[in-house]
Amino acid sequence: MSRLFLGGLLFLGLGACAAPRAAGAPLAPLGRAWAVPTLGLYQEWWDKTVACSGRQGQMSAVSFYAVDAPSGAIELAGDTAHAWWVREGNRIYLPANALSQEWLVRHEMLHALLQRGSHPSEVFVEACHVASAAVWRDSSLSHDPGNPSGN
Ligand SMILES: [Zn+2]
Repeated sequence: MSRLFLGGLLFLGLGACAAPRAAGAPLAPLGRAWAVPTLGLYQEWWDKTVACSGRQGQMSAVSFYAVDAPSGAIELAGDTAHAWWVREGNRIYLPANALSQEWLVRHEMLHALLQRGSHPSEVFVEACHVASAAVWRDSSLSHDPGNPSGN
């Protein structure tokens, strides 16, 4: 997914996340971040995401972080997105004010389960309905209006 595309998604308020490429330096948000203990609710959401995706994985392999991001956008590696999954360390960064937003948390969980940063429609849209807020609201969609090609 191109940087411009991500920026456009954010501008439209549809973007969910991005998955940065490691470029040598450690990848971490600019904002203050802290580890989020994964409580029962997250386990429930993880189990639902395992079920809809058909992928196996342990949530204990993933680290969750809250980021002080009042605007709901997190800046990382020169890009801005609502949330991030970082392959290095299998880390998920969420805005502190969106920790209970099911579709967003499960969107990032799905990246962690798939171990990929793209958004194939068959799983992000059709199977799990977590590609975007629009897809979450309308489970009959077969493509994410904001990212129809599933990049
Ligand atoms: Zn994503």
